[in-house]
Amino acid sequence: MNLNEPAKPSNFIREIIDNDLQTDKYGGRVHTRFPPEPNGYLHIGHAKSICLNFGLAGDYNGKCNLRFDDTNPVKEEEEYVESIKADVRWLGFDWEDRLFFASDYFEQMFEYAVQLIKCGKAFVCDLSSEQMREYRGTLTEPGRESPWRNRSIEENLDLFNRMRAGEFPDGSRTLRAKIDMASPNLNMRDPVMYRILHASHHNTGDKWCVYPMYDWAHGLEDSIEKITHSICTLEFEAHRPLYDWYLIQLGAYRPQQIEFARLNMTKTVMSKRKLLELVKGKFVNGWDDPRMPTISGLRRRGYTPESIRLFCNRIGVSKADSTVDVALLEHCLREDLNKRAPRVMAVLRPIKAVIENYPEGKVEELDAVNNPEDPTMGTRKIPFSRVIYIERDDFMEDPPKKFFRLAPGREVRLRYAYIVKCEKVVKNPETGDIVELRCTYDPETRSGSAEGRKVKATIHWVSAEHAVEAEARIYDHLFLKDDPGNVEEGADWKDNINHNSLETLQGCKVEPSLANAAPGSRFQFERLGYFCVDADSKNGKPVFNRTVTLKDEWAKIAKSEKSGSQKQDSN
Ligand code: ATP
Ligand code: MG
Repeated sequence: MNLNEPAKPSNFIREIIDNDLQTDKYGGRVHTRFPPEPNGYLHIGHAKSICLNFGLAGDYNGKCNLRFDDTNPVKEEEEYVESIKADVRWLGFDWEDRLFFASDYFEQMFEYAVQLIKCGKAFVCDLSSEQMREYRGTLTEPGRESPWRNRSIEENLDLFNRMRAGEFPDGSRTLRAKIDMASPNLNMRDPVMYRILHASHHNTGDKWCVYPMYDWAHGLEDSIEKITHSICTLEFEAHRPLYDWYLIQLGAYRPQQIEFARLNMTKTVMSKRKLLELVKGKFVNGWDDPRMPTISGLRRRGYTPESIRLFCNRIGVSKADSTVDVALLEHCLREDLNKRAPRVMAVLRPIKAVIENYPEGKVEELDAVNNPEDPTMGTRKIPFSRVIYIERDDFMEDPPKKFFRLAPGREVRLRYAYIVKCEKVVKNPETGDIVELRCTYDPETRSGSAEGRKVKATIHWVSAEHAVEAEARIYDHLFLKDDPGNVEEGADWKDNINHNSLETLQGCKVEPSLANAAPGSRFQFERLGYFCVDADSKNGKPVFNRTVTLKDEWAKIAKSEKSGSQKQDSN
């Protein structure tokens, strides 16, 4: 797949694949997979894994499967399956005819388990989960063998079949691998392969009442699908010997597992468990709340798939855990939107300005540039008339020295229009609040004409008569701290929630071209930031999400890091 992005630099995963191709380890094949558990919506961390797996398959002319790791019936739902498919597709990737479910392999997994029992490598255990924990030992002490470990093969087969047949209650028995209770790797201490659970599964219904454990199932899934490079996050490094052990005992096809560091991001919690808590606790308005780090939240916020792919390429992959600044994600978004988002004028906090010497009833259609970065995007007409709205912040009654915008007796240029001067401030006699500004304009200064003179500032505006009324939702980070998930014992990570992360502005005034803008379309509101039309928009009353401001925090961080390292170099 060519996503028109620059060639990616090499990394340790590519080196392993290159080497495997050279030694013909997998007959020249590269076959990866993205294996989400359908127990929540995908987040930006998953995007890293998706871009990596589908990206490698694309670059090496290989294949990438989408596989749902649906081994836990209790937490999984159809809604999540559908959202995950939509998100992967939206990111720009295609699994073609390779959509798989771990649950499709339940029968085969059961047969594999029987095979292990038959060669004396698995047994039915009657210890409760609590007892099992006691027997397990610790990092410094070996575990003890289960008293049920030496049941005969016949008894094990009989019990395991009866477990499947539903004869025993939940939690009363398990099937365990017979490996080594003294192994320094706790994962190898006779791990549980099957548990009894009388629960309906989103895919297999009530067919099963024994369910495979993740560690038993995962390696089998990769093996069954003949995955060549099974790429996962670092926490599975210590599970690799177990996956290998299972496949070696079974004499089954064995992929190469490669671990990489998961994405962590500042001001963000990433685990699905925590994201679910935010949704359930109504700290946000659903999984696709524009403040969520979910793919669906980012999409609703106005992120483009291109910007997310760009971000994932930029952060690369490594073996060491680190935290990426959320400012880098925003930087990638600005870089993309700068090229493609049409510029428009919108006033978020309006104040009325009447241009007294402009004829009543007159309307001029002025030319405005759609995107100075891209001349092919052309121009549009915007109406100008006697009464306009300007941004409340662009006027000060008593301005400090460095304020160059509108003030009594001062001039400012209206973008694409004229130079205006503030002649008078009209106040509500009771409250003292400013109601409107009375201005005059200089007809000789129309934008594009021989303007003659310059003023220090240009501000945006909207013609009052033509303005469309809109709502704007202004977002801030959902968390106050850089590392919100990291809390002292006894403290709650939710205490770090920023309760002022959403500000809703009513009565915004936007230019008429935006009246029927399609949900999902993105714009740059001149001088204010990038905005995206929300699905809550109703005919004639658009709702905008602020996607991101124009101020690039990342450029500042990158600059200070650069000057910091230069200083070090010269030491
Ligand atoms: P979470 O911890 O957020 O619940 P998970 O790892 O349990 O995530 P899965 O559905 O099992 O979620 O993940 C599917 C794939 O996405 C896995 O291969 C996993 O390694 C990868 N993945 C999950 N989180 C991240 C992350 N933060 N960075 C990179 N890859 C991730
Ligand atoms: Mg998981």
